[in-house]
Amino acid sequence: MSDTPFATHTLFITGPTYVRPEVRAAGAWPEFGHRDSENAKRFEPIFTDLRAIAELPEDYKTILFLGSGSTAMEAAVRSLVASDETVLHVSMGAFGDLWHKISLENGKKAAKLAVEPGRTATVAALEAAMDAHRPAVVAITHNETSTGVTSDVAALCRVAKARGALAIVDGVSIFGGAPSGIAASGCDMYCTATQKSLGLNAGFGIGFVSPAAIDKAGHVTARGHATDILAHLGRAAKFQTQSTPNVALGNQMWLQLNYIVRQEGIAARFARHAAMREQAVAFVAALPGYGLFAEQGHRSPTVTTAVVPAGMTFADLRAAKEAMRARGYLFDPGYAKLNEDLEAAGRRPIFRIGHMGDITPAMLKGFLDALGEVLPR
Ligand SMILES: *Cc1c(COP(=O)(O)O)cnc(C)c1O
Repeated sequence: MSDTPFATHTLFITGPTYVRPEVRAAGAWPEFGHRDSENAKRFEPIFTDLRAIAELPEDYKTILFLGSGSTAMEAAVRSLVASDETVLHVSMGAFGDLWHKISLENGKKAAKLAVEPGRTATVAALEAAMDAHRPAVVAITHNETSTGVTSDVAALCRVAKARGALAIVDGVSIFGGAPSGIAASGCDMYCTATQKSLGLNAGFGIGFVSPAAIDKAGHVTARGHATDILAHLGRAAKFQTQSTPNVALGNQMWLQLNYIVRQEGIAARFARHAAMREQAVAFVAALPGYGLFAEQGHRSPTVTTAVVPAGMTFADLRAAKEAMRARGYLFDPGYAKLNEDLEAAGRRPIFRIGHMGDITPAMLKGFLDALGEVLPR
């Protein structure tokens, strides 16, 4: 594609994702000062377009954290969980577990409601866990990237709110590929990042915060510096970041969000992701011996997971990865810890098909055609 000392292959993993050539080129635009008037020329449209993609309620605020999705997730627990309170993590897999671990590492009292991989948490299970743990904050994964499961965030947030808790949501791998549902769920902080369904390089964690979250943070001590949502709000009001941002990513993000909102269109983008889910699901369903892993009705529009036939191993999937690399694709042989756990339990491993960001149905078809030839039957 271009002069590089490195291999060029198209990423069908679950992040980082494929970046369009136009977006790559914007990374070479001139740098600018982040406290200068030039900054707002990029970041005011960026804040406006993020609001449009999120369909953000008027009274919510947007924060750009320097870091990635987990930076925003860490800020949520640092800013919203007080030292004498419990945060309950609803975990459907590796990323729900990660958020629970982040809370523990920050010294928070953190409980976990774990559901079987491939399934989503039910309202009844959350009600029971809330009655047992009495959390002040409930953390929910919108799209569990390790299992390909999307949860009913609005229904789970309703349970949290009915019991007086704040709800925080990890939408890292779905934002930009499906509606955020923030207005419907009323969640208090929605966390995401640039390098998944927005089709950009990594570099910003993105947080959308409710008035209740801003009020709550004022009663939480030791919110840290980079993880304090209140400290970010003054800068965000001026379309700035707390400290020096990656200005190349700022240029790229300006271009990409404008493309999403005014060229592709938000509804068309969401429809494209839904169509790619159908395409990937149909591919797996037609593969003899293979099966779909995620619960029907909760299959992700950004990542599809498939169970391999009996006798096939995680090692075979890693070999398939190398065969796909030789064809110019980066294939995802499954989340390592999940596959190790599945195999240890005598169960069959899974692989993942990332179809997020700016991957098109035509690109996905090329990838699936190659994968169909490479996968053992
Ligand atoms: C990738 C991912 C994360 C971690 O985000 P980073 O941007 O890598 O920090 C968290 N949650 C989910 C669901 C993810 O897919």
